[in-house]
Amino acid sequence: MTSSDAPGTSHALPPLPYPSNALEPVISEETLSFHYGKHHKTYVDTLNELIEGTEFASLGLEDLIIRTAGNEQHAAIYHNAAQAWNHTFYWHSLTPNAADKLPAALEAKVKSSFGDFAALKRELGKAAIEQFGSGWAWLVLDGTELRVMKTSNGDDPLPKRLTPLLTVDVWEHAYYLDYQNRRADYVHAVLNKLMNWEFAAENLR
Ligand code: MN
Repeated sequence: MTSSDAPGTSHALPPLPYPSNALEPVISEETLSFHYGKHHKTYVDTLNELIEGTEFASLGLEDLIIRTAGNEQHAAIYHNAAQAWNHTFYWHSLTPNAADKLPAALEAKVKSSFGDFAALKRELGKAAIEQFGSGWAWLVLDGTELRVMKTSNGDDPLPKRLTPLLTVDVWEHAYYLDYQNRRADYVHAVLNKLMNWEFAAENLR
């Protein structure tokens, strides 16, 4: 996923894994176009400006995030790098061809960590809806167990040495054009119609 991360090159905006109208009607083409073409692109462009000519210029996105996390002096680099990474991860967390059951590799882990698929979706939905203000809800691998967590603003789970499996963007720009203040409607529609459980299973490896 980070093939654009070759050291010494600037970070590229990775292509969307589907056409910008592919997630309709849950996420409109208008929302997706702005979200990807303006918001995501701006994080990438800003990051490139911030790191040009610095000690960080040759680092891949994940290394950048881990190296700058928690360092006030480099907060802008951290937030833009994390947001660049988070958005690419979010696009892959969604699919127009969502399955209504879990891949076998994930199912066993979901059973042991949450009980069943419905319980996982409830927990992920709860985290997404309850995240106060802008942020993200995540399904992560923590050691050998799965868990749900939320992060604020531009934080992501990588510096905590967790393995992200899936994410849901709950910044208002992710849903406001389509759902206005009804974040719960957006979250439930995404969880039930667009989650890429195959991608989550691939991230287990
Ligand atoms: Mn976003």
